[in-house]
Amino acid sequence: MSLSVNSLNARPKQPVTRTSRAPHTPSDGTVTLGIDLRSGPRYPTGVATMTKDLRLRFLGVARTDEAILAAVEASAPRVVAIDAPLALPEGRDCADPTCACADHGIMREVDRIAAREGYRPFPTLLPSMVKLTLRGIALRETLEARGYEVIETYPGMTQDVLAIPRKRAGLDELRRGLKRRGVLGIPRSRRVSHDELDAVTCALTAQLYLEGRAEVMGPGTPVPLVLPDRSLSW
Ligand SMILES: [Zn+2]
Repeated sequence: MSLSVNSLNARPKQPVTRTSRAPHTPSDGTVTLGIDLRSGPRYPTGVATMTKDLRLRFLGVARTDEAILAAVEASAPRVVAIDAPLALPEGRDCADPTCACADHGIMREVDRIAAREGYRPFPTLLPSMVKLTLRGIALRETLEARGYEVIETYPGMTQDVLAIPRKRAGLDELRRGLKRRGVLGIPRSRRVSHDELDAVTCALTAQLYLEGRAEVMGPGTPVPLVLPDRSLSW
């Protein structure tokens, strides 16, 4: 087990092995799980689980796909929110720039919408994004095959809508912004990384989605890109 687990303050440590309870039955309110996915196991992928009261139940990093999946199975989330493109551009069947399907370009319709609306997303098949996108798609397909609902989320987008300073403003500002938005249980006893705080933002977005306070950008298929509802006053 290569999952790095950090217990939250004095709360009980989240088990990282599959428990005997039914895998999709939340034990502690409706759990969402946020993943700040990186392109491969060389880098730490942030993982956060959050209950309905916006309290963190687990916060840590995982590197391998196995460790990420173990974290999901351990927390039985109602929704998994992943910070990565989770689908190929419309008309593409692969990421190979020499394939005939490359005529369809490197952007999805939702990328173009996000760009028009000022969020400056990285195009899904930009060469520097290909590994992340393919990892995201594979993870989504694995999770969906196991019965989980998966959404795509961008922490920077959520942070902008909720007026939470992005991480370039500093980790303390980001942490304080999340707290102002009602997130409970961010550890104080250790340094929390920006990967982890972005995972927290993904989990928070999924909670807003379950509460009906989120919107879907673009066509919503094969996976919805979810952000806080911009028609609400935050
Ligand atoms: Zn192709």
